[in-house]
Amino acid sequence: MNGLGTNWSSRHPKREAIEREVLDFDVLYIGGGPSNLISLWHLLNQLEEAKKKGKTLPPITIGLIEKGDQIGDHIFSGAVLDPKALEEAMPDYLERGFPTEGCVQREEVWLLTSERQGVQAPIIPPFLHNIGHHIISLSKVCRWLASEIEKRSVEGIDVMILPGFSAMKILWEQDGSGTPRVKGVQTADKGVDREGNPKSNFEPGNFLHAKITIFGEGPRGHLSRELEEVLHLQSTSVNPQVYEMGVKEIWEVPEGNIEEGFVLHSTGWPLPQGEIGGSWVYALGKNKVSIGYVVSLDSHDPFIDGHAVLQLFKTHPKIAPFLHGGKMLQYGGKALAIGGWYSMPQLAFPGGMLVGDAAQMVNAARLKGIHLAMKGGMSAAETIADCLLANDFSFPQLEKYSERFMESWAGVELYTSRNFHGIVQHGLTPSAFTKLNVALLTNGWVPGDPLRVNKDAAQTETTEKYYGKKGVKYSDVQDLIKTEGQQFSKLDNVYASGTQHDEHQPCHLKIVKGNEICVECYEEKGAPCTVFCPAQVYEMHPDALGHVKQVDIAFSNCVHCKTCDIKCPEENVIWTPPEGGGGPKYTLC
Ligand SMILES: Cc1cc2nc3c(=O)[nH]c(=O)nc-3n(C[C@H](O)[C@H](O)[C@H](O)COP(=O)(O)OP(=O)(O)OC[C@H]3O[C@@H](n4cnc5c(N)ncnc54)[C@H](O)[C@@H]3O)c2cc1C
Ligand code: SF4
Ligand code: SF4
Repeated sequence: MNGLGTNWSSRHPKREAIEREVLDFDVLYIGGGPSNLISLWHLLNQLEEAKKKGKTLPPITIGLIEKGDQIGDHIFSGAVLDPKALEEAMPDYLERGFPTEGCVQREEVWLLTSERQGVQAPIIPPFLHNIGHHIISLSKVCRWLASEIEKRSVEGIDVMILPGFSAMKILWEQDGSGTPRVKGVQTADKGVDREGNPKSNFEPGNFLHAKITIFGEGPRGHLSRELEEVLHLQSTSVNPQVYEMGVKEIWEVPEGNIEEGFVLHSTGWPLPQGEIGGSWVYALGKNKVSIGYVVSLDSHDPFIDGHAVLQLFKTHPKIAPFLHGGKMLQYGGKALAIGGWYSMPQLAFPGGMLVGDAAQMVNAARLKGIHLAMKGGMSAAETIADCLLANDFSFPQLEKYSERFMESWAGVELYTSRNFHGIVQHGLTPSAFTKLNVALLTNGWVPGDPLRVNKDAAQTETTEKYYGKKGVKYSDVQDLIKTEGQQFSKLDNVYASGTQHDEHQPCHLKIVKGNEICVECYEEKGAPCTVFCPAQVYEMHPDALGHVKQVDIAFSNCVHCKTCDIKCPEENVIWTPPEGGGGPKYTLC
């Protein structure tokens, strides 16, 4: 009963008929992010504990696959970590060599009012309090977590962490009542040419079967889309899943530019009026800086460009001195799920579970999701341990994960911030400020609760409506970015992300409704993908008369941020996983 959902990945008749190796797991994790890694660790805790209590367990095989070449390569975040969940799962994490870049000792919040001015907030809003939290590189933390798991040995439990494997599609079966049940995943074929033909180095993907599959793909997962299509997990959610997009650079700077443990958040300039987003500047030890900007993808502006916003932000007199005399080391971009409580899908379903950003477990007010993703993974692990001990993998048993998570402190935190995005969706207006204050006093309630938000793709306006003139192009409205000094072009930045894909493989970005839609979109909306993509993957090349025929896609530059899949106003792009191993190579992000 395979292929229930639409399979957008590249297929070819020759490859469909290939016999594939079947690998059996008891538990299979998709994605090597913080949600799944801590879940695996916590599952080992639970099983070890059960053994100590004299419970007998059959031999257990646990697998985790990750599309990055190494664990951490595709992991991108801010990041300041609230260690609450980590402390619960691994109380001795500091003694185990947790890679902290320092604890937050001083913080500032700014409203930048113009390209030269700004005001510092006299008090830090409670949701932005970070003192004592760890400043981290999440890609380093994930690599460290994987190595801690690999060092651990629990008798009778076989753990396999397998980077370099993309889960391409879901394998389905029917349960007793005829309902579709997840049976595992198929990994992507390797060594396929642009047309989909096997090359001499062809390696067929495998069928990975499991009793329980945990989907921790991060924001806008390709398989999460298939789950939604088949199981309608979002059908009882108040709001659709919504996102921001963040870009950041890591700089090496002279000592003294930034004090250890310092974090700064700002909003305002250079965001256009009415747009939602904000910046961060975090000290990584004594001589490195993480600097980034998130922009909300529900923007009406067809030319929202997170990369340009970051380049301008770095020139503000409050910000530029942090980077003075320094060198940019790494760049990246990624979507961030911000819907929270009202956008969460059903968390458990026959054969599987959703964790972390894939289930919108982010507190947008705090710009934090790692601790919630971890707690999601831990609640899942506790439920999986019960299933393994009872040898019962039925849906009612799996469903207990949802209850566990919702009743935990993480559920309470998400519930309390449930209206945040709804409140600020039209900008930081006086009414939004009032509502934010009301929400602080009422555990998140505001008049109109639940506040509704729209799908990001549907929010983009035509250039005529937004800029008051038909046919406006990005070059007509863009603030000039100087590609010198502290500013970089997208292509220079992409180089610093270490991104690579084998160019002789099928394009993993699928234009699903056709290029004629792109031509119309260019006329009406200026082809937003050519602007919002932080890696300049999409380009339109008008002829002498200004007409275009198609959108050109340089897929090998793709940093896997998923913005095009979310924000193409015509929903004409579907991101699919390329061959495992391709993509960015984040080591500091
Ligand atoms: C710009 C930005 C700033 C942020 N700042 C902070 C912060 O300061 N503090 C904080 O707490 N949170 C922050 N967050 C949020 C935080 O990073 C996420 O909530 C967290 O990383 C979610 O973890 P996850 O495990 O769900 O997913 P991810 O971290 O996204 O990991 C998912 C993994 O799954 C892999 N994968 C995806 N699909 C497949 C597939 N089909 N096959 C195989 N592997 C696959 C991916 O390659 C990736 O490695 C920020 C996020 C962004 C984008
Ligand atoms: S991919 Fe989407 S945003 Fe880009 S031109 Fe086509 S329709 Fe427009
Ligand atoms: S092509 Fe899409 S997923 Fe890739 S970097 Fe550009 S916007 Fe992000």
